[in-house]
Amino acid sequence: MKIFFYGGARSVTGANYLLENESIKMLIDCGLNQGTKYAEDLNYQPFNYNPEEIDYVFVTHSHIDHIGRLPKLFKDGFGGKIYTTVATRDLMAVALPDNMKQIQQEAKENGHPPLFEQKDLDGLMSLVQGINYYEPIDLGDGVKVIFHDAGHILGSAIIEVQWPDKKIFFSGDLGNSPTPLLRPSDTISGADYVVVESAYGDRVHEARAERKEKLISVIENTIGREGVLMIPSFAIERTQELLFELNEFFNTNRIPKVPIFIDSPLAIKMTAVYKKHSEYFNKEAVYLIKSGDDIFDFPGLKMTATTEESKMINDIPPPKIIIAGSGMSQGGRILHHEIRYLPDPKSTILFVGYQVDGSLGRRIQKGEKEVRILGQSVPVNCHVENLSGYSAHADQPGLLKWIAGSKQDGKKPKEVFVVQGEEEAAGTLANLVHDNLGINAIAPQTGDSFEL
Ligand SMILES: [Zn+2]
Repeated sequence: MKIFFYGGARSVTGANYLLENESIKMLIDCGLNQGTKYAEDLNYQPFNYNPEEIDYVFVTHSHIDHIGRLPKLFKDGFGGKIYTTVATRDLMAVALPDNMKQIQQEAKENGHPPLFEQKDLDGLMSLVQGINYYEPIDLGDGVKVIFHDAGHILGSAIIEVQWPDKKIFFSGDLGNSPTPLLRPSDTISGADYVVVESAYGDRVHEARAERKEKLISVIENTIGREGVLMIPSFAIERTQELLFELNEFFNTNRIPKVPIFIDSPLAIKMTAVYKKHSEYFNKEAVYLIKSGDDIFDFPGLKMTATTEESKMINDIPPPKIIIAGSGMSQGGRILHHEIRYLPDPKSTILFVGYQVDGSLGRRIQKGEKEVRILGQSVPVNCHVENLSGYSAHADQPGLLKWIAGSKQDGKKPKEVFVVQGEEEAAGTLANLVHDNLGINAIAPQTGDSFEL
């Protein structure tokens, strides 16, 4: 059997791995490559394999950098089966149309055809089958696939591929446990090979208690200055976690009651999917819901779905809190708020998620004093704060602990492939896996293949 790394190799985005033998070809994820552009030019290149020959795709989770090229895969001839968890399928049904709109807009601006069209998206979704965690999918010839809980976002999975004589685990993205809503990542056992993410392979997050306190103090300080707190947030998971915690702060009077806006049609739709799938939540969250608390709603919260509602946010005087997409400020309504309030020394921009190299979010985070947004030059005079503890990704100790868990009964994996991290993060983690855990580890390059 062979594994090919066609994306997500020394890069956080674009996850795309091919496993094949003489009878089966399967992909794990088919994500969008993202960076300076929403969809990097690389996505428009032909796939490195013939999509017609792929039998199955297994999807770890619904983030665009893991599913964004699936409609193109369909367009280019894929007609096999796609398996995801039930919640991932429902989140994909919201995420992909939004993804398509952004891709179409970018393509129009750059004067080329979009990566795919509505009919490709519809065709793709007709192939998706949702399954439950731990329910084995039997592919025949002794090959089985099992989804385990990755604790990263709703429905996220660690994918176990059981070949007749070996087991391979794909971590997908691993959660940063404990999280407000989800269960911790499942541990793995009996792995012969592990493909593990490394977005934070060279960093350590703040602890959860600290991140809560820091969030409260950023809110208090901004309100104290009568400023606006802007939180660019990913529509999936981060927004729902923030809502969950803000709901708690309100219920316990930890923060003053100021207007809070969820200014993202996408995040509003995603929150509805979260409400529908509370069976995926951890015990504490389920208990709160059962006790009658609507964990995604509280006084002062407004969901502004339409453009008109969104524009009305401007009429509400500060202090106020605005949570808007996109999470890395590469588009979406956050840009309009940034143009207004980045120049304001009383206001704050708070980063709660990963900012990919080249994104506007990363440039502000790095301290650039002037940025270009929608063709305008915008000075950055506001406070810039970071809360890495809200990341949905495990940090370096978390990743090492998860990998170490695969060493059981004296057996350890033959090789760990470190992916989905930038050069430095992937390399650092690979070295630590080798030096500290005594397991062979490599950070493959795009196009690399290995005999398993
Ligand atoms: Zn992810």
